[in-house]
Amino acid sequence: MTATVGEGIEALRAVMSGPVFIPADADYESARLIWNGDIDRHPAVIARYQTQQDVVTAVGFAQREGMEIAVRGGGHGISGSAVCEGGLMIDLSGMRNVMVDPERRRAVVGGGASLAELDAATQAHGLAVTGGVVSHTGVAGLTLGGGMGWLTRKLGLSIDNLEAVEVVLADGRCVRAYADSHPDLFWAMRGGGGNFGIVTSFEFRLHPVGPEIHLALLFWGLDQGHDALRTARDGIPALPEDIYPLLCVALNAPPAPFVPEQHHFAPGYALLLVGFGSADEHAQAVAPIRAACPPLFEFITPIPYTALQQLFDDNPFPWGIRAYEKALYLDELSDEAINVLVERATDRTSPMSFMPIFRLDAAFARVGEQDTAFGGTRTPQYAVNIIAISPDAAALAADRKWVRSVWDALRPLAASASGYVNFDAEHDDDRVRATYGSTKYDRLAQIKAQYDPGNVFHRNANISPA
Ligand SMILES: Cc1cc2nc3c(=O)[nH]c(=O)nc-3n(C[C@H](O)[C@H](O)[C@H](O)COP(=O)(O)OP(=O)(O)OC[C@H]3O[C@@H](n4cnc5c(N)ncnc54)[C@H](O)[C@@H]3O)c2cc1C
Repeated sequence: MTATVGEGIEALRAVMSGPVFIPADADYESARLIWNGDIDRHPAVIARYQTQQDVVTAVGFAQREGMEIAVRGGGHGISGSAVCEGGLMIDLSGMRNVMVDPERRRAVVGGGASLAELDAATQAHGLAVTGGVVSHTGVAGLTLGGGMGWLTRKLGLSIDNLEAVEVVLADGRCVRAYADSHPDLFWAMRGGGGNFGIVTSFEFRLHPVGPEIHLALLFWGLDQGHDALRTARDGIPALPEDIYPLLCVALNAPPAPFVPEQHHFAPGYALLLVGFGSADEHAQAVAPIRAACPPLFEFITPIPYTALQQLFDDNPFPWGIRAYEKALYLDELSDEAINVLVERATDRTSPMSFMPIFRLDAAFARVGEQDTAFGGTRTPQYAVNIIAISPDAAALAADRKWVRSVWDALRPLAASASGYVNFDAEHDDDRVRATYGSTKYDRLAQIKAQYDPGNVFHRNANISPA
């Protein structure tokens, strides 16, 4: 790896249609920043792409100069894999276009687009595809690792709706991978992360959603923890597929107009129930949960799908905040797991740190185990994300320990050490192998050997070439 580059940089600038930044340039400082404010790395060169040919040029340039490559899609990866120290940061934020074909119900999405851009373009036609729960997240990184969100019970993961990808490979070739062309590569890119090449565009199948959907937020106080989580545990598996539940442990009530003033900033437990069907169906799903454990306060309202997607954007996930996370899958919210969650809910230092718990079943669980490279099983389960968030470095350091200790306490209750690659700030080799399991890992390693034998794309949950 070289920390600086010589005349090559002018040659690169001459052939690139997008801008190229080096540390002396005015825009370099802003270009190196990503969502996680705790990441402070200095690439030797940042090249912002506008065309697939730009990406080809940059991959060749980096290899000629012996530079490490980091790939930035939406810049949301908490691990900071999108930014390297020295090396070339390939920034796709110049490729954010989203083209929707409402007749065929397809969207073609640039490799640097955000979920907000995808949602805005698709909702203009009353359509959507599964994304995550924060709209400034990048479509690329999210999709390559799987992609779970409010539509996962109804439509599966983002990768379950992926038709094709356009990829720049390590040797500079551009290929379109789909079921009938480079099928192994297409399989690997549905869950195997950024290991196999740089995706310049994704093609998704779309589905009618909204534009108005139904939201219920039930919020319980700290002293209601056991009852609230048992109620959620008993109620969630019985929900119709049109309802998505997101359980939040140790969430502070926002100082929002819909929260009674005496509960602003109160720590507690929230269950968000999002209904994609009728208002009646939503009301019927919410009623028994609310009756079984009356919440401290509640907020039930119709809401545009695009507003739902932005619910957490500014609080607790503003751009530039410091963060760290770890995750695991639990088959069920057993009494033991509930005890751990309740006991550890009060240990965090930052009032922004919390544990969102995603339900994975229904459409998610109807996809075959080996149909995609998703890291994890397709059985009904929960993805528990333990996330430290703070503007303050010392509070983040304290909550990094909190995240690890909660994970350690939950680990014996999980079927395996598998975790969702998109919710892990650190990717060591053992954990990556555990996440995919030996059958998928071995197949991924073969495909990696075919498409990236030199491990050019290694800043990710890395698969070693077989
Ligand atoms: C606040 C927040 C909320 C989140 N919510 C969810 C959620 O609800 N559901 C969910 O599933 N995930 C969620 N995530 C995790 C998210 O999916 C991952 O962080 C993902 O990596 C973000 O993608 P990105 O393109 O923004 O990341 P980046 O940081 O830009 O990239 C991360 C890595 O992805 C790879 N990559 C990115 N773009 C490309 C590309 N075009 N071609 C090839 N490789 C590429 C590279 O290896 C890169 O290092 C969330 C993350 C955060 C920080």
